[in-house]
Amino acid sequence: MANTRPNILFIMSDDHAAHAMTCYGSVINQTPHLDRIANGGVRLDNCFCTNSICTPSRATILTGLYSHAEGNGVTTLDSKIDGKRPNVAKALQGAGYQTAMIGKWHLGHGGDADPTGFDYWNVLPGQGLYHDPEFIEIGSGGERKVYEGYCTDIITDMSLEWLGGRDTSRPFFLMCHHKAPHRPWDPSDKYADLFDDRDIPEPPTFNDDYANRARAAGDTKMTIAHHLTPRDLKQDVPEGLSPEAEKSWKYQRYIKDYLRCVQSVDDGVGRLLDWLDEEGIADDTLVIYTSDQGFFLGDHGWYDKRFMYEESLRMPFVARYPKGIEAGSVCGAMALNVDFAPTFLDYAGIESPENYQGTSLRPILEGDAPDGWQDAMYYRYWMHLTHHNVYAHYGLRTMRHKLIYYYADALGTPGSIHDTKEPEWELFDLDNDPYEMNNVYHDPAYAEVVAKLTAELHRRQAELGDERYHKDV
Ligand code: CA
Repeated sequence: MANTRPNILFIMSDDHAAHAMTCYGSVINQTPHLDRIANGGVRLDNCFCTNSICTPSRATILTGLYSHAEGNGVTTLDSKIDGKRPNVAKALQGAGYQTAMIGKWHLGHGGDADPTGFDYWNVLPGQGLYHDPEFIEIGSGGERKVYEGYCTDIITDMSLEWLGGRDTSRPFFLMCHHKAPHRPWDPSDKYADLFDDRDIPEPPTFNDDYANRARAAGDTKMTIAHHLTPRDLKQDVPEGLSPEAEKSWKYQRYIKDYLRCVQSVDDGVGRLLDWLDEEGIADDTLVIYTSDQGFFLGDHGWYDKRFMYEESLRMPFVARYPKGIEAGSVCGAMALNVDFAPTFLDYAGIESPENYQGTSLRPILEGDAPDGWQDAMYYRYWMHLTHHNVYAHYGLRTMRHKLIYYYADALGTPGSIHDTKEPEWELFDLDNDPYEMNNVYHDPAYAEVVAKLTAELHRRQAELGDERYHKDV
Protein backbone atom coordinates (compact mmCIF):
# COMPACT_ATOMS: atom_id res chain seq x y z
CA MET A 1 0.00 0.00 0.00
CA ALA A 2 1.17 3.48 -0.79
CA ASN A 3 2.02 5.79 2.10
CA THR A 4 1.18 9.02 0.33
CA ARG A 5 -2.34 10.31 0.08
CA PRO A 6 -3.61 9.94 -3.48
CA ASN A 7 -5.66 12.45 -5.37
CA ILE A 8 -9.22 11.23 -5.76
CA LEU A 9 -10.95 11.83 -9.07
CA PHE A 10 -14.52 10.63 -8.66
CA ILE A 11 -16.37 10.68 -11.98
CA MET A 12 -20.05 9.86 -11.80
CA SER A 13 -22.63 9.89 -14.56
CA ASP A 14 -26.38 9.73 -14.23
CA ASP A 15 -28.30 6.56 -15.18
CA HIS A 16 -25.42 4.86 -16.97
CA ALA A 17 -25.99 1.12 -16.74
CA ALA A 18 -23.00 -1.21 -16.59
CA HIS A 19 -24.23 -3.15 -19.61
CA ALA A 20 -23.53 -0.06 -21.74
CA MET A 21 -19.78 -0.26 -21.08
CA THR A 22 -17.51 -2.48 -23.16
CA CYS A 23 -15.51 -3.53 -20.10
CA TYR A 24 -18.73 -5.00 -18.67
CA GLY A 25 -19.38 -6.92 -21.90
CA SER A 26 -21.67 -4.45 -23.64
CA VAL A 27 -22.93 -5.73 -26.99
CA ILE A 28 -24.52 -2.40 -27.85
CA ASN A 29 -21.71 0.20 -27.68
CA GLN A 30 -18.02 0.80 -27.16
CA THR A 31 -16.48 2.83 -24.35
CA PRO A 32 -12.70 2.83 -24.95
CA HIS A 33 -11.85 5.44 -22.32
CA LEU A 34 -13.94 3.93 -19.54
CA ASP A 35 -12.25 0.67 -20.44
CA ARG A 36 -8.88 2.34 -19.84
CA ILE A 37 -9.83 2.69 -16.17
CA ALA A 38 -10.88 -0.96 -15.94
CA ASN A 39 -7.85 -2.21 -17.86
CA GLY A 40 -5.50 -0.16 -15.73
CA GLY A 41 -7.29 -1.05 -12.50
CA VAL A 42 -10.24 -3.04 -11.23
CA ARG A 43 -13.80 -3.71 -12.33
CA LEU A 44 -16.37 -4.45 -9.62
CA ASP A 45 -19.02 -6.87 -10.80
CA ASN A 46 -21.33 -6.68 -7.82
CA CYS A 47 -21.63 -3.02 -6.93
CA PHE A 48 -25.18 -2.09 -5.92
CA CYS A 49 -27.21 0.98 -5.14
CA THR A 50 -29.14 0.97 -1.87
CA ASN A 51 -31.98 3.12 -3.30
CA SER A 52 -31.97 3.21 -7.08
CA ILE A 53 -32.85 6.81 -7.80
CA CYS A 54 -30.73 9.90 -8.45
CA THR A 55 -31.00 12.22 -5.45
CA PRO A 56 -30.97 9.57 -2.71
CA SER A 57 -28.00 7.75 -4.22
CA ARG A 58 -26.02 10.99 -4.33
CA ALA A 59 -26.89 11.75 -0.71
CA THR A 60 -25.80 8.27 0.35
CA ILE A 61 -22.48 8.68 -1.45
CA LEU A 62 -21.87 12.02 0.28
CA THR A 63 -22.97 11.03 3.76
CA GLY A 64 -21.95 7.39 4.00
CA LEU A 65 -25.45 6.66 5.26
CA TYR A 66 -28.55 4.85 4.04
CA SER A 67 -31.42 7.06 2.88
CA HIS A 68 -33.46 6.70 6.08
CA ALA A 69 -30.59 7.30 8.48
CA GLU A 70 -30.22 10.26 10.82
CA GLY A 71 -27.69 12.52 9.11
CA ASN A 72 -29.00 11.69 5.64
CA GLY A 73 -32.80 11.58 5.35
CA VAL A 74 -32.77 11.97 1.56
CA THR A 75 -35.24 9.23 0.72
CA THR A 76 -36.91 10.65 -2.41
CA LEU A 77 -36.32 12.99 -5.36
CA ASP A 78 -38.00 15.78 -3.40
CA SER A 79 -35.74 15.46 -0.38
CA LYS A 80 -33.00 18.05 0.01
CA ILE A 81 -29.68 17.46 1.61
CA ASP A 82 -28.90 19.40 4.77
CA GLY A 83 -25.57 21.04 4.04
CA LYS A 84 -25.04 21.78 7.72
CA ARG A 85 -24.51 18.08 8.34
CA PRO A 86 -21.17 16.33 8.02
CA ASN A 87 -20.32 14.89 4.61
CA VAL A 88 -17.33 13.17 3.09
CA ALA A 89 -16.16 16.30 1.25
CA LYS A 90 -15.98 18.20 4.54
CA ALA A 91 -13.93 15.39 6.06
CA LEU A 92 -11.49 15.45 3.15
CA GLN A 93 -11.35 19.23 3.12
CA GLY A 94 -10.64 19.25 6.84
CA ALA A 95 -7.76 16.86 6.29
CA GLY A 96 -6.10 19.14 3.76
CA TYR A 97 -7.59 17.98 0.49
CA GLN A 98 -8.60 20.54 -2.11
CA THR A 99 -12.18 19.74 -2.92
CA ALA A 100 -14.46 20.53 -5.84
CA MET A 101 -17.88 19.52 -7.09
CA ILE A 102 -18.58 20.15 -10.78
CA GLY A 103 -21.68 19.21 -12.75
CA LYS A 104 -24.88 17.61 -11.61
CA TRP A 105 -25.57 18.05 -7.91
CA HIS A 106 -29.31 17.33 -7.80
CA LEU A 107 -29.62 17.65 -4.05
CA GLY A 108 -31.46 20.95 -4.13
CA HIS A 109 -29.90 24.40 -4.21
CA GLY A 110 -30.06 27.60 -2.24
CA GLY A 111 -29.50 27.89 1.50
CA ASP A 112 -28.60 24.66 3.21
CA ALA A 113 -29.11 22.63 0.04
CA ASP A 114 -26.07 24.14 -1.70
CA PRO A 115 -22.93 22.02 -1.80
CA THR A 116 -20.83 22.22 1.37
CA GLY A 117 -17.35 20.90 2.00
CA PHE A 118 -16.09 22.06 -1.38
CA ASP A 119 -13.48 24.75 -2.02
CA TYR A 120 -15.09 25.20 -5.39
CA TRP A 121 -18.38 24.18 -6.93
CA ASN A 122 -20.20 24.91 -10.14
CA VAL A 123 -23.37 22.92 -10.54
CA LEU A 124 -26.40 22.46 -12.75
CA PRO A 125 -29.66 23.64 -11.22
CA GLY A 126 -31.90 20.59 -10.82
CA GLN A 127 -31.64 18.20 -13.75
CA GLY A 128 -29.90 20.76 -15.97
CA LEU A 129 -29.96 20.96 -19.75
CA TYR A 130 -27.92 19.12 -22.35
CA HIS A 131 -27.50 22.11 -24.65
CA ASP A 132 -26.41 25.58 -23.49
CA PRO A 133 -26.97 24.69 -19.82
CA GLU A 134 -27.16 27.09 -16.92
CA PHE A 135 -24.81 26.62 -13.98
CA ILE A 136 -24.72 28.06 -10.49
CA GLU A 137 -21.23 28.79 -9.21
CA ILE A 138 -19.99 29.08 -5.65
CA GLY A 139 -20.10 32.67 -4.47
CA SER A 140 -22.60 33.76 -7.11
CA GLY A 141 -25.47 34.14 -4.67
CA GLY A 142 -27.50 31.64 -6.66
CA GLU A 143 -27.18 33.49 -9.96
CA ARG A 144 -27.57 31.27 -12.99
CA LYS A 145 -25.12 31.64 -15.84
CA VAL A 146 -25.59 30.11 -19.28
CA TYR A 147 -22.67 28.26 -20.80
CA GLU A 148 -22.86 27.74 -24.53
CA GLY A 149 -22.12 24.25 -25.74
CA TYR A 150 -22.82 20.65 -24.79
CA CYS A 151 -23.25 19.90 -21.10
CA THR A 152 -20.97 16.86 -20.90
CA ASP A 153 -18.15 18.71 -22.67
CA ILE A 154 -18.63 21.77 -20.47
CA ILE A 155 -18.45 19.74 -17.26
CA THR A 156 -15.22 18.17 -18.51
CA ASP A 157 -13.83 21.60 -19.48
CA MET A 158 -14.68 23.02 -16.05
CA SER A 159 -13.09 20.04 -14.33
CA LEU A 160 -9.88 20.44 -16.32
CA GLU A 161 -9.82 24.14 -15.64
CA TRP A 162 -10.17 23.61 -11.89
CA LEU A 163 -7.52 20.88 -11.92
CA GLY A 164 -5.17 23.14 -13.88
CA GLY A 165 -5.47 25.86 -11.25
CA ARG A 166 -5.07 23.64 -8.21
CA ASP A 167 -2.40 23.90 -5.52
CA THR A 168 0.04 21.16 -6.54
CA SER A 169 1.38 20.83 -3.00
CA ARG A 170 -1.83 19.22 -1.75
CA PRO A 171 -3.94 16.27 -2.94
CA PHE A 172 -7.32 16.93 -4.53
CA PHE A 173 -10.78 15.42 -4.34
CA LEU A 174 -12.85 16.23 -7.42
CA MET A 175 -16.40 15.08 -7.96
CA CYS A 176 -17.00 15.38 -11.70
CA HIS A 177 -20.70 14.59 -12.09
CA HIS A 178 -22.25 14.32 -15.51
CA LYS A 179 -25.88 14.87 -16.30
CA ALA A 180 -25.61 12.34 -19.11
CA PRO A 181 -27.03 9.91 -20.00
CA HIS A 182 -30.16 10.94 -18.07
CA ARG A 183 -33.45 11.46 -19.86
CA PRO A 184 -34.26 13.23 -22.25
CA TRP A 185 -31.16 11.78 -23.97
CA ASP A 186 -30.18 14.74 -26.16
CA PRO A 187 -26.88 13.84 -27.84
CA SER A 188 -24.16 16.24 -28.86
CA ASP A 189 -23.99 17.28 -32.50
CA LYS A 190 -20.75 15.32 -32.71
CA TYR A 191 -22.63 12.05 -32.19
CA ALA A 192 -25.95 12.90 -33.80
CA ASP A 193 -25.39 10.29 -36.52
CA LEU A 194 -23.62 7.63 -34.47
CA PHE A 195 -25.32 4.21 -34.90
CA ASP A 196 -27.32 5.42 -37.91
CA ASP A 197 -25.79 2.58 -39.91
CA ARG A 198 -26.95 -0.23 -37.65
CA ASP A 199 -29.67 -1.64 -35.43
CA ILE A 200 -28.86 -2.03 -31.75
CA PRO A 201 -29.66 -5.57 -30.52
CA GLU A 202 -32.73 -5.90 -28.32
CA PRO A 203 -32.05 -7.39 -24.88
CA PRO A 204 -33.14 -10.97 -24.06
CA THR A 205 -36.05 -9.83 -21.86
CA PHE A 206 -37.29 -7.16 -24.28
CA ASN A 207 -40.67 -8.87 -24.70
CA ASP A 208 -41.22 -9.74 -21.04
CA ASP A 209 -44.95 -10.24 -20.33
CA TYR A 210 -44.48 -9.84 -16.53
CA ALA A 211 -46.10 -13.20 -15.80
CA ASN A 212 -44.84 -14.99 -12.67
CA ARG A 213 -43.99 -11.73 -10.95
CA ALA A 214 -45.68 -9.51 -8.37
CA ARG A 215 -48.18 -7.04 -9.82
CA ALA A 216 -45.62 -4.27 -9.48
CA ALA A 217 -43.74 -5.37 -12.62
CA GLY A 218 -46.76 -5.35 -14.90
CA ASP A 219 -48.19 -2.14 -13.41
CA THR A 220 -45.31 0.17 -14.29
CA LYS A 221 -45.60 3.04 -16.71
CA MET A 222 -42.06 2.91 -18.00
CA THR A 223 -42.42 0.65 -20.99
CA ILE A 224 -40.69 1.21 -24.29
CA ALA A 225 -43.94 0.22 -25.99
CA HIS A 226 -46.29 2.74 -24.34
CA HIS A 227 -44.60 5.32 -22.16
CA LEU A 228 -41.86 7.07 -24.11
CA THR A 229 -43.08 10.57 -24.93
CA PRO A 230 -42.74 12.53 -28.19
CA ARG A 231 -40.05 14.56 -26.37
CA ASP A 232 -38.15 11.35 -25.68
CA LEU A 233 -38.51 10.02 -29.21
CA LYS A 234 -37.89 13.34 -31.01
CA GLN A 235 -39.36 11.95 -34.22
CA ASP A 236 -42.89 11.05 -35.19
CA VAL A 237 -43.65 7.37 -34.93
CA PRO A 238 -43.99 6.01 -38.48
CA GLU A 239 -47.54 5.09 -39.42
CA GLY A 240 -48.69 1.62 -40.30
CA LEU A 241 -46.35 -0.32 -38.05
CA SER A 242 -47.51 -3.40 -36.17
CA PRO A 243 -47.39 -3.04 -32.37
CA GLU A 244 -44.23 -5.17 -32.30
CA ALA A 245 -42.55 -3.15 -35.04
CA GLU A 246 -43.51 0.11 -33.35
CA LYS A 247 -42.01 -1.05 -30.06
CA SER A 248 -38.79 -2.00 -31.84
CA TRP A 249 -38.70 1.35 -33.63
CA LYS A 250 -39.13 3.19 -30.33
CA TYR A 251 -36.39 1.11 -28.75
CA GLN A 252 -33.97 2.10 -31.52
CA ARG A 253 -34.85 5.76 -31.09
CA TYR A 254 -34.40 5.55 -27.34
CA ILE A 255 -31.28 3.41 -27.10
CA LYS A 256 -29.34 5.17 -29.83
CA ASP A 257 -29.79 8.58 -28.22
CA TYR A 258 -28.95 7.10 -24.81
CA LEU A 259 -25.75 5.57 -26.16
CA ARG A 260 -24.83 8.77 -28.02
CA CYS A 261 -24.99 10.57 -24.68
CA VAL A 262 -22.77 7.88 -23.16
CA GLN A 263 -20.24 8.41 -25.93
CA SER A 264 -19.66 12.01 -24.87
CA VAL A 265 -19.16 10.87 -21.27
CA ASP A 266 -16.56 8.40 -22.51
CA ASP A 267 -14.81 11.18 -24.42
CA GLY A 268 -14.77 13.35 -21.31
CA VAL A 269 -13.28 10.56 -19.22
CA GLY A 270 -10.60 10.13 -21.88
CA ARG A 271 -9.68 13.81 -21.68
CA LEU A 272 -9.37 13.62 -17.89
CA LEU A 273 -7.20 10.49 -18.09
CA ASP A 274 -5.02 12.14 -20.74
CA TRP A 275 -4.59 15.14 -18.50
CA LEU A 276 -3.49 12.95 -15.58
CA ASP A 277 -0.87 11.40 -17.88
CA GLU A 278 0.34 14.76 -19.17
CA GLU A 279 0.50 16.13 -15.66
CA GLY A 280 2.50 13.08 -14.57
CA ILE A 281 0.15 12.27 -11.69
CA ALA A 282 -1.71 9.21 -12.99
CA ASP A 283 0.18 6.99 -10.54
CA ASP A 284 -0.78 9.24 -7.64
CA THR A 285 -4.46 9.46 -8.45
CA LEU A 286 -7.33 7.15 -7.57
CA VAL A 287 -9.74 7.43 -10.48
CA ILE A 288 -13.23 6.05 -10.01
CA TYR A 289 -15.99 5.92 -12.56
CA THR A 290 -19.50 5.01 -11.54
CA SER A 291 -23.11 6.03 -12.08
CA ASP A 292 -25.69 6.99 -9.45
CA GLN A 293 -27.55 3.76 -10.25
CA GLY A 294 -28.22 1.38 -13.12
CA PHE A 295 -30.88 1.60 -15.82
CA PHE A 296 -33.15 -0.59 -17.91
CA LEU A 297 -31.89 -0.54 -21.49
CA GLY A 298 -35.00 -2.16 -22.91
CA ASP A 299 -34.57 -4.95 -20.37
CA HIS A 300 -38.02 -6.24 -19.35
CA GLY A 301 -39.35 -3.89 -22.04
CA TRP A 302 -38.45 -0.86 -19.88
CA TYR A 303 -36.44 2.32 -19.62
CA ASP A 304 -35.78 4.01 -16.23
CA LYS A 305 -34.67 2.48 -12.91
CA ARG A 306 -36.16 2.46 -9.34
CA PHE A 307 -36.65 -1.29 -9.07
CA MET A 308 -34.46 -3.62 -7.10
CA TYR A 309 -34.15 -5.74 -10.25
CA GLU A 310 -30.61 -6.31 -11.42
CA GLU A 311 -30.25 -3.83 -14.29
CA SER A 312 -31.41 -0.97 -12.06
CA LEU A 313 -29.72 -2.11 -8.83
CA ARG A 314 -26.29 -2.66 -10.32
CA MET A 315 -23.86 0.27 -10.54
CA PRO A 316 -20.88 0.28 -12.84
CA PHE A 317 -17.73 0.74 -10.78
CA VAL A 318 -14.23 0.79 -12.22
CA ALA A 319 -11.25 2.18 -10.33
CA ARG A 320 -7.59 2.79 -11.14
CA TYR A 321 -4.77 3.49 -8.74
CA PRO A 322 -1.51 2.03 -10.00
CA LYS A 323 0.16 2.20 -6.59
CA GLY A 324 -2.44 -0.01 -4.97
CA ILE A 325 -4.75 -1.65 -7.49
CA GLU A 326 -3.55 -4.36 -9.83
CA ALA A 327 -4.19 -3.57 -13.50
CA GLY A 328 -6.85 -5.64 -15.20
CA SER A 329 -8.32 -7.13 -12.06
CA VAL A 330 -11.96 -8.14 -11.69
CA CYS A 331 -13.71 -8.42 -8.36
CA GLY A 332 -16.99 -10.18 -7.60
CA ALA A 333 -17.18 -9.16 -3.95
CA MET A 334 -20.22 -7.12 -2.98
CA ALA A 335 -19.88 -3.33 -2.87
CA LEU A 336 -22.52 -0.68 -2.12
CA ASN A 337 -22.86 3.04 -2.69
CA VAL A 338 -22.90 3.49 1.09
CA ASP A 339 -19.32 2.16 1.01
CA PHE A 340 -17.96 4.94 -1.21
CA ALA A 341 -17.48 7.58 1.49
CA PRO A 342 -15.47 5.29 3.80
CA THR A 343 -13.42 4.26 0.75
CA PHE A 344 -12.47 7.86 0.00
CA LEU A 345 -11.53 8.42 3.63
CA ASP A 346 -9.51 5.20 3.81
CA TYR A 347 -7.39 6.28 0.83
CA ALA A 348 -6.98 9.70 2.41
CA GLY A 349 -5.80 8.10 5.64
CA ILE A 350 -8.78 9.36 7.62
CA GLU A 351 -10.74 7.22 10.03
CA SER A 352 -14.42 6.95 9.13
CA PRO A 353 -16.92 8.58 11.50
CA GLU A 354 -18.60 6.13 13.84
CA ASN A 355 -22.03 6.62 12.34
CA TYR A 356 -20.98 5.56 8.82
CA GLN A 357 -22.98 2.54 7.71
CA GLY A 358 -20.66 1.29 5.00
CA THR A 359 -17.21 -0.21 4.82
CA SER A 360 -14.13 0.89 2.89
CA LEU A 361 -13.84 -0.96 -0.40
CA ARG A 362 -10.07 -0.61 -0.41
CA PRO A 363 -9.43 -4.27 0.51
CA ILE A 364 -11.54 -5.59 -2.35
CA LEU A 365 -10.22 -3.01 -4.84
CA GLU A 366 -6.72 -4.14 -3.98
CA GLY A 367 -7.49 -7.87 -4.23
CA ASP A 368 -7.44 -8.52 -0.53
CA ALA A 369 -11.03 -9.24 0.53
CA PRO A 370 -11.04 -10.23 4.19
CA ASP A 371 -12.90 -13.29 5.44
CA GLY A 372 -16.49 -12.49 6.23
CA TRP A 373 -16.76 -9.71 3.63
CA GLN A 374 -20.36 -8.54 3.14
CA ASP A 375 -22.43 -11.01 1.14
CA ALA A 376 -25.89 -9.46 1.43
CA MET A 377 -27.36 -5.97 1.05
CA TYR A 378 -30.43 -4.05 2.15
CA TYR A 379 -32.40 -2.03 -0.39
CA ARG A 380 -35.29 0.40 -0.16
CA TYR A 381 -37.13 2.46 -2.77
CA TRP A 382 -39.57 4.90 -1.17
CA MET A 383 -41.46 6.73 -3.91
CA HIS A 384 -44.67 4.74 -4.00
CA LEU A 385 -46.55 5.27 -7.30
CA THR A 386 -45.05 8.73 -7.76
CA HIS A 387 -43.18 8.21 -11.03
CA HIS A 388 -43.74 5.52 -13.62
CA ASN A 389 -46.22 3.95 -11.22
CA VAL A 390 -43.47 1.99 -9.48
CA TYR A 391 -44.41 0.54 -6.09
CA ALA A 392 -42.33 1.30 -3.03
CA HIS A 393 -40.42 -1.74 -1.88
CA TYR A 394 -37.59 -3.03 0.23
CA GLY A 395 -35.61 -6.20 0.14
CA LEU A 396 -32.45 -8.18 0.58
CA ARG A 397 -30.03 -9.35 -2.08
CA THR A 398 -27.51 -12.04 -1.29
CA MET A 399 -24.92 -13.43 -3.68
CA ARG A 400 -27.53 -15.90 -4.93
CA HIS A 401 -31.04 -14.78 -4.01
CA LYS A 402 -33.14 -11.66 -3.98
CA LEU A 403 -36.12 -11.13 -1.69
CA ILE A 404 -38.38 -8.14 -2.43
CA TYR A 405 -41.34 -6.85 -0.42
CA TYR A 406 -43.73 -4.40 -2.08
CA TYR A 407 -45.28 -2.89 1.00
CA ALA A 408 -47.93 -1.14 -1.08
CA ASP A 409 -49.60 1.35 1.23
CA ALA A 410 -46.83 2.68 3.43
CA LEU A 411 -47.30 6.25 2.26
CA GLY A 412 -51.04 6.06 2.09
CA THR A 413 -53.95 6.73 4.32
CA PRO A 414 -57.00 4.47 4.27
CA GLY A 415 -59.04 5.12 1.20
CA SER A 416 -56.20 6.74 -0.78
CA ILE A 417 -54.85 5.21 -3.95
CA HIS A 418 -51.94 4.00 -1.88
CA ASP A 419 -54.23 1.71 0.01
CA THR A 420 -55.66 -0.06 -3.00
CA LYS A 421 -53.03 -2.75 -3.39
CA GLU A 422 -52.10 -5.60 -1.13
CA PRO A 423 -48.45 -6.08 -0.24
CA GLU A 424 -46.62 -8.75 -2.23
CA TRP A 425 -43.36 -10.66 -2.02
CA GLU A 426 -40.95 -11.81 -4.67
CA LEU A 427 -38.02 -14.20 -4.43
CA PHE A 428 -35.60 -14.80 -7.27
CA ASP A 429 -32.95 -17.49 -7.50
CA LEU A 430 -30.33 -15.60 -9.47
CA ASP A 431 -28.23 -18.68 -10.20
CA ASN A 432 -31.13 -20.32 -12.01
CA ASP A 433 -32.94 -17.20 -13.13
CA PRO A 434 -30.46 -14.36 -13.74
CA TYR A 435 -33.06 -12.24 -15.55
CA GLU A 436 -35.57 -12.49 -12.68
CA MET A 437 -38.43 -13.83 -14.74
CA ASN A 438 -39.81 -16.30 -12.23
CA ASN A 439 -40.90 -15.40 -8.71
CA VAL A 440 -40.37 -18.49 -6.56
CA TYR A 441 -41.55 -16.95 -3.30
CA HIS A 442 -44.54 -19.28 -3.11
CA ASP A 443 -42.65 -22.36 -4.33
CA PRO A 444 -42.49 -24.84 -1.41
CA ALA A 445 -38.99 -25.81 -2.48
CA TYR A 446 -37.86 -22.34 -1.43
CA ALA A 447 -39.69 -22.20 1.91
CA GLU A 448 -36.46 -22.47 3.90
CA VAL A 449 -34.76 -19.79 1.81
CA VAL A 450 -37.77 -17.50 2.29
CA ALA A 451 -37.71 -17.98 6.04
CA LYS A 452 -33.98 -17.41 6.29
CA LEU A 453 -33.90 -14.33 4.05
CA THR A 454 -36.97 -12.79 5.67
CA ALA A 455 -35.36 -13.10 9.08
CA GLU A 456 -32.14 -11.62 7.72
CA LEU A 457 -34.04 -8.75 6.06
CA HIS A 458 -35.69 -7.86 9.35
CA ARG A 459 -32.47 -8.26 11.27
CA ARG A 460 -30.76 -5.81 8.92
CA GLN A 461 -33.59 -3.32 9.12
CA ALA A 462 -33.27 -3.32 12.87
CA GLU A 463 -29.50 -3.07 12.68
CA LEU A 464 -29.60 -0.17 10.21
CA GLY A 465 -32.42 1.59 12.01
CA ASP A 466 -34.99 1.46 9.24
CA GLU A 467 -38.62 0.86 10.05
CA ARG A 468 -40.23 -2.42 9.19
CA TYR A 469 -43.57 -1.84 7.60
CA HIS A 470 -46.43 -2.99 9.79
CA LYS A 471 -48.11 -5.28 7.27
CA ASP A 472 -44.81 -7.04 6.69
CA VAL A 473 -45.33 -10.43 8.30
CA1 CA B 1 -29.82 8.76 -11.84
